[in-house]
Formats: sequence, structure tokens, C-alpha cells
Amino acid sequence: MNPNQSRRDVIVVGGRVAGSATAMLLARLGRDVLVVDQAVFPSDTISTHSIARSGVVQLQRWGLLDEVLGSGAPAIRQVTFHALGESVSRTIKHKSGVGLVVSPRRYVLDTILAAAAERAGADVLHDVTVTGLRRDRRGRVAGISGHDRNGAPVDIGARYVIGADGLRSRVAHSAGAAINEARPAGGATQYAYYAGIQWIGIELFFADRSFAGVFPTNHGQACVWVCTPSADARAARRRTGSRVEAFGDLLQRSAPQLTERLRHARRTSPVQGMLRMPNQIRQAFGPGWALVGDAGYHRDAVTAHGITDAFRDAELLAVAVDQALGAGVDEIAALAHYQRQRDQALREIFEITCRLGAYPAVPAFVDLQKQLSAAIDTEAAALASRPVPGERLLATA
Ligand SMILES: Cc1cc2nc3c(=O)[nH]c(=O)nc-3n(C[C@H](O)[C@H](O)[C@H](O)COP(=O)(O)OP(=O)(O)OC[C@H]3O[C@@H](n4cnc5c(N)ncnc54)[C@H](O)[C@@H]3O)c2cc1C
Repeated sequence: MNPNQSRRDVIVVGGRVAGSATAMLLARLGRDVLVVDQAVFPSDTISTHSIARSGVVQLQRWGLLDEVLGSGAPAIRQVTFHALGESVSRTIKHKSGVGLVVSPRRYVLDTILAAAAERAGADVLHDVTVTGLRRDRRGRVAGISGHDRNGAPVDIGARYVIGADGLRSRVAHSAGAAINEARPAGGATQYAYYAGIQWIGIELFFADRSFAGVFPTNHGQACVWVCTPSADARAARRRTGSRVEAFGDLLQRSAPQLTERLRHARRTSPVQGMLRMPNQIRQAFGPGWALVGDAGYHRDAVTAHGITDAFRDAELLAVAVDQALGAGVDEIAALAHYQRQRDQALREIFEITCRLGAYPAVPAFVDLQKQLSAAIDTEAAALASRPVPGERLLATA
């Protein structure tokens, strides 16, 4: 395919959880879609990867859950909470059509989604970096410009450009998307992978000013993580002198039992993560463009909800753009509806995230986790009750 040749219905910039899901749904709705990403897949991104029940509902509705489980990411059916000297295990109930959660490595999940977008008919180009947006004479966004891996220019027209290009979205900056709401960015999440221990399910450890845990993932390994205020992460780094030792120090403070078990495990990755994670909501659309995923809404990872946000909003946006592409439809009404639905859908968990990110005392933190769990169940039920975009076309393909 010569990327510069044609004018597409939609170009999606960024092909991970938000971008590939949006592209897949638009392609299933019969739209002509191109995804470009500067990364080459399979590849990881900075993120742990527990998918909440509502995100698992999306994977199941889109027909991708079996493939995710088939990748070797274990079906997780138990969560154990460790707080104030007590441990309690709970079985994940069957609700909204699912009785498990899952935590696939991002290089696995993102590749499955990109392949699903391609199977649905989208073109996917990797190793292409978008540097700016093309505009028509009226100033409407009308395509992308950038370059491929060899530096050759890439310049493609489209009726809509969707920015699914993450927190530092080039599309958002080039389009001039306003930040409509910003809260303090105080939280840090750091993680590493470990092999050599059997993990039965998710484990969560609550302690003063910290929250740690284990997400079982592919290859029999586990993602071990710790969330703290960024100031504590920085102080640990100054005290210890290395990222690995700082991580060990924070884990020891949050979950000494876990640290003890990790002595028998092998760390298989560097320690990675993010400090000062923004909590912000951007304007979701303008003439010829829209944002989805972290590009439009970013929150602290303490609630592990970004992948689910991306899946939920990908569907809202795909439906809105499909309508806007229809003849005689008021595009502003369709995309404004997307922004309203997104802002309403994210509100409860955004508020809980901001409160958790302030690290209240353990009993209040645990209480907020219970509120989070109830909010996720409500979200999952709402998603499970919707018609699946493009399902009819998929069935007849
Ligand atoms: C430390 C940490 C832990 C987390 N843990 C969890 C968790 O357990 N569960 C959960 O649900 N969420 C978690 N999240 C949040 C989750 O990672 C994000 O919400 C999610 O990755 C957002 O997906 P996205 O597709 O919007 O963007 P991204 O995953 O950021 O993907 C953006 C893509 O755009 C591409 N791109 C960017 N700029 C350009 C450009 N100019 N040209 C071409 N391509 C471009 C990039 O290469 C990238 O592939 C965590 C986040 C962090 C930082």
C-alpha cells in the first residue's frame, strides 16, 4: 500500500488499546480506516495491565476474550486483600456475563487488538510517526503529515483524524485541544516482572501511603507493582541510590510478606513506571478530529482503569464517528454526544481515582476500593446491555 495515495474515512493515530479498538469497531461498521503508530508491534508500553471486569466485558462482546486467554494470560478468579494485619480472599463472581478478570502483557494485548483491527478491514502501518495535522482552507483538520522509518514523508488525507496517541498526544497538541479539567498529579506507580512463584490470583496490599500488588500474567510470570505518592518514590530513590533498590524499599514498607516471597523469585525485567501521573480531561473533538484513550482522558494508575476507559470510549467514539460520516448527519451533534457520554461515564471512577491518589489512611483507602469495585460492576452492567457495533456486519462477513 502506498500510504500517501488515498483519502481515508478515518485515520487513527496510535494503535494500542484505544486506537486499535476504535479502528476495529469503525472497520466493522464498514468504514475505511487507517491506523498509524510510530511503534513496531509486538512491543510493550509503560503500563501494568490488569483489566477490570468492565474491560473484560468489552473483550468478550467484541469476540476477543478467548484469544486473550489463549495467549496464556491466566483467567484470574480470585482476589486476596491484605490490610491491617488481616488477609481475605474473594472469588470473582459471575456478573455481566463474565466471571474472571485478566492481566495480559501489553505486547500481547495490543498485538491482538491490532490484528483484530486488520481482520476487520483496517490498514495498520507501524513505524510511522505523525508530526502534524493537515488542514483544509477553512482550517478543518483534513489528514496527517509525518514520516516513515526511513524519514520519507507521509502525508495522508482523511475526513476524520482520531488521536489515540497517548498522554503526550501530538494530535491533541496540533489540534489545540483544551484541557477542560485538571486535578493534582501526585501519584507514582512502579513495577517489575517476576518468575519462579505460582500466583493464584490478584493480591492487593494496603499500607500507610502505599498500595502494592501482584497481577499474574503471561509465561507464568507476575507483574509486581507499588503505588505511592510521587514524593515518597523520589525520597526512596534518594535514600537508596538506584531504581531497583528504591522499588524494594517501597515494597518492603507496603508489603513485607510479599518482599519475603519475592526472595524465592527471579526478577525478569527492569523496574519501570511513572511519577506525577496527570489527572486530566481534554476536549474530546473539534472540526475533523477527536481524541480517545489517554490522549483525551488520563488518570492516575492507582485504579488500574486506563485500558477499560480506552475500551469503553473507543466504542462510544466509533459509533459517533460512524454517525458523523453518514449523509446528512449533524457532525457536531454526534461528536458532542460522544464527549458528553465520555465525561459522564468516566466521572465516578475519576473522582475515586483522585481521592485514592491522595492516599488517605488505610480504612478510608479500603473504603474507596469498595466504592471502586461497585462502580466497576455498574459500568460492566451498562456495557453488557449495549448492542455491539458492527456485530451484524461481522456475522454476515
Ligand atoms: C505505570 C502505569 C501502570 C498502569 N497500569 C494499568 C493497569 O493495570 N490497568 C489499566 O487498565 N491501565 C493501566 N494504566 C493505564 C494504561 O496504560 C493507559 O490508560 C493505556 O495504555 C492507554 O492506552 P492508549 O491506547 O490511549 O495509549 P498508549 O497505550 O499510550 O498508546 C499510544 C500509542 O500511540 C503511539 N504514538 C504516540 N505518538 C505518536 C505519533 N506522533 N505518531 C504515531 N504514533 C504515535 C505510541 O507509539 C503508542 O503505541 C497504567 C499506566 C501506567 C503509566
